[in-house]
Amino acid sequence: MSKQIAIDGPAGAGKSTIAKKVAAILGFIYVDTGAMYRAMALYMIKEGINPGETNKIVDKCKSADITIKHENGEQVVYLNGENVNGLIRTEEVGNMASSVSVIGFVRQKLVELQQKLAAETDVVMDGRDIGTVVLPDADLKIYLTASSKVRAERRYKELTEKGVSCNIDDIERDIVERDYRDMHREISPLKQADDAVLIDSSNYTIEEVAKKIIDCYSKV
Ligand code: C5P
Repeated sequence: MSKQIAIDGPAGAGKSTIAKKVAAILGFIYVDTGAMYRAMALYMIKEGINPGETNKIVDKCKSADITIKHENGEQVVYLNGENVNGLIRTEEVGNMASSVSVIGFVRQKLVELQQKLAAETDVVMDGRDIGTVVLPDADLKIYLTASSKVRAERRYKELTEKGVSCNIDDIERDIVERDYRDMHREISPLKQADDAVLIDSSNYTIEEVAKKIIDCYSKV
């Protein structure tokens, strides 16, 4: 049986940075499921589809071939054969991802892919529904959160470092809206699994949180 660590939580809580670190320490593969929803969102944007056009999204979703490869320890997402890693990290794509991810048909397709990956190798997988839906029998489940203010500050820093000009209040508003949508959708809403360990990263460094997770894993 492959080993599984599930990390869920709201946008900007530090999931991907921490999951990547934990995976590297344990020699597991890191699977960023948000990137799959982002690739699907990018496809819809490219096709000129608007967030509310559910029927069109369901239809187009059938021709979106999303695959994941690990190259030099990095997850690479391919959308119809194209490496889209460099195109999916914008706020526009993130917001569209949160809209397409409410659709059951989209989720079913991506959850299947995620479960297949986790069955093949030891994984640290992050997302919104990993502990609750994708890997309900994971060896360890973490629910990682932080205040919306701290999360907005982190996103602002990340974007300005990349040279993207942005406004911190707009970022916090987007984060709060996205959390609301993710937590209140009908299918697989973001919530802490009953058996997940809650970690609030607001006052901890990445290294401290990674260490906490490794400690928890060593006890399972
Ligand atoms: O984690 P990230 O911000 O990249 O995710 C983008 C969006 O994809 C989230 O806001 C959420 O709506 C959706 N998502 C999801 N289930 C997952 C991972 C991401 O619904 N497992």
